Amino acid sequence: MKIRAEHITKEFGEFAALADVSIEIPSGELVALLGPSGSGKTTLLRVIAGLEVPQRGRVFLGDDEITHATIQARGIGFVFQDYALFEHLTVAENIAFGLSVRKQPAAKIELRVRELLGRVQLSELATRLPSELSGGQRQRVALARALAPDPKVLLLDEPFGALDARVRAELRTWLRRLHDDLHITSVFVTHDQEEALEVADRIVVLDHGKIEQVGSPTEVFDRPASAFVIEFLGGANVLRGEVRGDRGSFGELVLPWTGRGDGPARAFVRGHDLELGRDAVAQSLSVTIQDVREIGITARVVVFHLDHGELVIELPRRRLAELALVRGDRAIATVRTASVFLDNPLPNQALS
Ligand code: ADP
Ligand code: MG
Repeated sequence: MKIRAEHITKEFGEFAALADVSIEIPSGELVALLGPSGSGKTTLLRVIAGLEVPQRGRVFLGDDEITHATIQARGIGFVFQDYALFEHLTVAENIAFGLSVRKQPAAKIELRVRELLGRVQLSELATRLPSELSGGQRQRVALARALAPDPKVLLLDEPFGALDARVRAELRTWLRRLHDDLHITSVFVTHDQEEALEVADRIVVLDHGKIEQVGSPTEVFDRPASAFVIEFLGGANVLRGEVRGDRGSFGELVLPWTGRGDGPARAFVRGHDLELGRDAVAQSLSVTIQDVREIGITARVVVFHLDHGELVIELPRRRLAELALVRGDRAIATVRTASVFLDNPLPNQALS
């Protein structure tokens, strides 16, 4: 079911955790709320769930306004980071909990629990207690418990945040598959850009209680809307310069400028968008190799440029071997693609 939030402002005292946030989540999508700690992700999720009431704005589920509806009336499933399971109940009893309190017939509950145990691949562990499970298994129980009453939407707050890297990666794939099976409208909070890029249909990037960008993973990665988005999504080299008219100069480099306004600007260039070579070409930077790190199949080369200082270039190790460049060598770096932003951006009319 579609979720829509309009002009949500949520203040705690003087402080606005959400400042005029509007967002629409299409039915059946898996959407990530991505942003640094304190950007308002949990608050937005809690406003949708009915755990917080905003000072201004409205929330809709499908066509119904639910801004002031009770938590129970919303029919929302919730999964928290800290796998809040009932420690004295077995896995099956935990999953059945939401159905038992709704006074459903025992046979129906049993059938539903069995189905969900299968879905989250825990059929063999039905009679275990939470304390006898791994972190990843506990989170799967929490998810099955949230799904049991057949919620209209599923909200997950950093569901894998407390797990180690390998289990996290497994659960990501698993959540994506589960979503592909169930197609339940889902919103999950994460501060991990890789997790959002890998799992979500759509990413909402938040900073300081405001939406910076909404788009598919490739859109936000390839066409970041602001300096904040590119820095948060993996970072980039920064070239300082100036834009005027339809172009910008960044030291010896000239780049096209399609935005509005003139003035001091920065060009952001990701490590793998800089190409390393030996022969001078037009529109290139003359650099010195300062350091080479080989990490698996990738080489990370730190180069030095007189105007721009240290730049990091990432390329396949095989390519570096072909170039046969070592520390102290002179080389040429060319920019494949860059994102240019004014230091003092004009107010963006595209964002409401
Ligand atoms: P995130 O989930 O992105 O880390 P939150 O939504 O939890 O961020 O919090 C956003 C901001 O609102 C933070 O600065 C946080 O300290 C503040 N905040 C959240 N909940 C409360 C509260 N109940 N009382 C006061 N401040 C709060
Ligand atoms: Mg949070």
